[in-house]
Amino acid sequence: MDQYAVFGHPIAHSRSPQIHRMFAQQTQENLEYQAILAPLEGFAASWRTFVAQGGCGANVTVPFKQEALSVCDTLSTRAQQAQAVNTLIVDQQSGQVQGDNTDGVGLVRDIQTHLNYSLANKRVLILGAGGAVRGIIQPLLEQGVHTLHIANRTPQKAQALVVAFTGPLSASALDTLDQMAAFDVVINATSASLSGQMPTLPASLLTTKSLAYDLVYSAQATPFMQWAQQAGAGQVADGLGMLVEQAAEAFYLWRQVRPHSAPVLAALRAQLSANQGK
Ligand code: NDP
Repeated sequence: MDQYAVFGHPIAHSRSPQIHRMFAQQTQENLEYQAILAPLEGFAASWRTFVAQGGCGANVTVPFKQEALSVCDTLSTRAQQAQAVNTLIVDQQSGQVQGDNTDGVGLVRDIQTHLNYSLANKRVLILGAGGAVRGIIQPLLEQGVHTLHIANRTPQKAQALVVAFTGPLSASALDTLDQMAAFDVVINATSASLSGQMPTLPASLLTTKSLAYDLVYSAQATPFMQWAQQAGAGQVADGLGMLVEQAAEAFYLWRQVRPHSAPVLAALRAQLSANQGK
């Protein structure tokens, strides 16, 4: 049976095995998918062992997305632009390894498909300037956004991203946002939610038509989502749909079969709610 895996450290929390097993069942694809805890200093060796044992492809998560660049023979444009790889594909004929990055397309598909929201001509604010932001900038620009403003605690990192991409981009420090007009879309890509925190933000960033999106997913509203609800955002979402959509794109790259993401997202959401408080 064709072997796939997700590499990370830690990895026990990963929902990727469950997502890909559901995709495989739904599409009748004959594959196995496991979670592999790679040693912090040993991602490349762990990947090579997996390939030597017949591994056909993998997902890569924290903290190996940058290191995964080094095991690739070729990179997709998306991976080059993101300077990070979350999907590895082994060509079964040549043995060559292609690196791709499906995080950005996952976010855009979730916003368009599951949230039914068009990004064309919208004023978009991204909070944060880390690895995830590098992956989502180009896919957002390709939707024809009007403005893409990146605000980060360390403003130099946001400025560096503005220089690295071409489009209607601007940057600032997080603590200057009270001087800005409201945005149509505010995306929280800081890792603050992971520790139950969020940057201090003015309510004036949102209107009743705004979409507020947290890349982190959670059974309960994250601090950013709570803030957005209180500030009157029209739509508030977490990153579970992005997680499922980036996986669906990876599955397609491996198998050339596109799974239906909606039932898988619904199953994960139900499970997340059922586990709440356990
Ligand atoms: P990084 O560590 O690369 O970047 C973290 C960012 O958060 C930096 O911009 C950092 O600012 C900022 N930050 C951290 N703590 C705070 C704080 N207390 N206040 C303000 N800013 C803060 O992380 P990633 O970019 O890889 O990931 C970001 C988030 O996106 C994570 O929560 C991750 O789980 C999520 N994610 C979700 C995905 C999904 O499928 N749903 C996919 C990928 C990521 P500074 O530069 O100043 O340090």
